Amino acid sequence: MEERLIECDVLCVGGGIAGLMAAIRASERGASVIVAEKGNAHYSGCGRRGNDHFETWIPEVHGADKEKFIDELLKTAKGEILIGRDILRAQFGRAYEVVQLWDEWGIPMRQNGTWEFAGHAFPGRMMTHIKYEGRFQKTVLVQQARKRGAKIMNRIMMTELLRSGDRVTGAVGVHTREDTVFVFQAKAVILGTGKCSRLYQGLTPGMMFNDGHGGVQTGDGRAMAYRVGAELMNVEMPQRHIGPKYMAKFGQATWVGVLRDAQGKPVGPFVSKPDRRYGDIVMEVNKLAPEQYAERGQGPVYMDCTGISDEDAAYMRHWHIHEGNISLVNHMEDEGIDPQKHPIEFSTYPLRGGGLIVANEKAETSLPGLYAAGDEAMGDISAAATFGWISGDNAAVYAQTAERGDVEATRPIIDALRSKIDELRGRENGPDWEEANIALQQVMTDYAGKVRNEARLLQGLAHLRRLREKVDTELMARNQHELGRCLEVHNLFDVGELTFHAALDRKESRGLHNRPDYPFTNPLLSQAHIVRREGDAPVTDWRSY
Ligand SMILES: Cc1cc2nc3c(=O)[nH]c(=O)nc-3n(C[C@H](O)[C@H](O)[C@H](O)COP(=O)(O)OP(=O)(O)OC[C@H]3O[C@@H](n4cnc5c(N)ncnc54)[C@H](O)[C@@H]3O)c2cc1C
Repeated sequence: MEERLIECDVLCVGGGIAGLMAAIRASERGASVIVAEKGNAHYSGCGRRGNDHFETWIPEVHGADKEKFIDELLKTAKGEILIGRDILRAQFGRAYEVVQLWDEWGIPMRQNGTWEFAGHAFPGRMMTHIKYEGRFQKTVLVQQARKRGAKIMNRIMMTELLRSGDRVTGAVGVHTREDTVFVFQAKAVILGTGKCSRLYQGLTPGMMFNDGHGGVQTGDGRAMAYRVGAELMNVEMPQRHIGPKYMAKFGQATWVGVLRDAQGKPVGPFVSKPDRRYGDIVMEVNKLAPEQYAERGQGPVYMDCTGISDEDAAYMRHWHIHEGNISLVNHMEDEGIDPQKHPIEFSTYPLRGGGLIVANEKAETSLPGLYAAGDEAMGDISAAATFGWISGDNAAVYAQTAERGDVEATRPIIDALRSKIDELRGRENGPDWEEANIALQQVMTDYAGKVRNEARLLQGLAHLRRLREKVDTELMARNQHELGRCLEVHNLFDVGELTFHAALDRKESRGLHNRPDYPFTNPLLSQAHIVRREGDAPVTDWRSY
């Protein structure tokens, strides 16, 4: 297999929103930059088809007190996120600057010349999100990155980080179409690899890619970061979302309607008739509502937009398209589903992998030379764009004085990957990535799912390890595309195993970590639950936010 060595100052792993913003900023700062993307940066990641809400603090609108804005976010969109306030302060210190840049570059952030705030809000309270037309945001960001000289390399699945001493000095990956391994020697590496889907069974378990994220972000960044010795946090805290039944589509705040039960009674206390300024924030306050209704024998639950005006219907359609939900709009049209006439059944979506790579307000991880931004370090479009920008800034400055690493010293990692690839590609019989992924999802859902206790977690971990042995020795990839999927599955097994370890160690119930053997929430554990690798084993720790 061909091996190519490529040098750059800053390597951005992942060409999503965070990766592209990092590339733009680092290039502006004079660094030579490469973006290595496992898909195609034009169409990849959660922001691929657009978003429509961007959270930003605008002093002229919200007043000078940023803390009040943050307080409101912690009651609404950021409510379930376990991060420190310093991180939010850093985000909102620069988010507005990013909003203005995007507007200048051609992503329409104003409506009719002004900032339009809507959605993700309680009626009568501070509004935190502007509406923006994000449908072509990726194309604009790719153009801006290229304009500044960043090189975008598509179809490269980055697989391991390279470390010299205590510093990260590059990464190695494999092409998902051609027989080539790429070794990047970089002074700084930024991980912008997105969330972790496909860890648990999805909404329609037979169709793994029917997933709100699209199913292709598989926790690669956090798995690589863990393996190289960086810290992760709160890996055991899963996430859930809410949306149309059987068709996993994010975009809760884009619906102009009220969430109601089958008798037409609103599920929440916040709105009783559709209002496009607010949507229905009960979906943010309690994403479990449809599931709880079903369990109590009271379901189904519907997003009820019936009776909204033609103007509101056109408004909602316009924003669904910018929200990346064209396929949903098309499907409803094809099937004769008219939201003005037909309530849309909603459900609570299954668990998704949780956790973050530990990164501070400068996007620095616990290892020098390694930065993390976006959904890997804190979620949503505003955070991805802003921390992408911040990470690009800081990585470029770091790269100005950092020494280049010694590739030969990292040879064992490169060779280990090459052997793994040879084994995966060399086998003619064995389970494929899909079988292994399904087996993992089954174990995660059954043993680290909605209800956990020590005995179940230990049993699940034993199952996972038994499967892991088979995956390590029997998995086969029939082509380069499947090779990429196999490497994703390896990462998912790592994240799954860490989830079990961290869940065993969190001896309390909190949010979606439900442990009847420790039923109370322990206020002393309102901290970051750290996991890092020591030798070959994970060790855990607690640290205040
Ligand atoms: C339909 C939808 C609507 C949404 N609407 C909103 C909204 O209105 N407002 C809001 O705030 N948020 C919204 N979100 C969330 C928002 O899109 C994400 O928070 C944001 O895009 C995260 O950006 P990111 O760069 O961190 O990750 P992503 O955009 O997911 O990008 C990650 C990139 O890394 C690549 N990658 C992963 N692993 C590797 C690897 N091993 N090697 C190379 N490349 C790799 C992926 O292919 C991908 O391109 C929405 C999400 C969806 C799915």
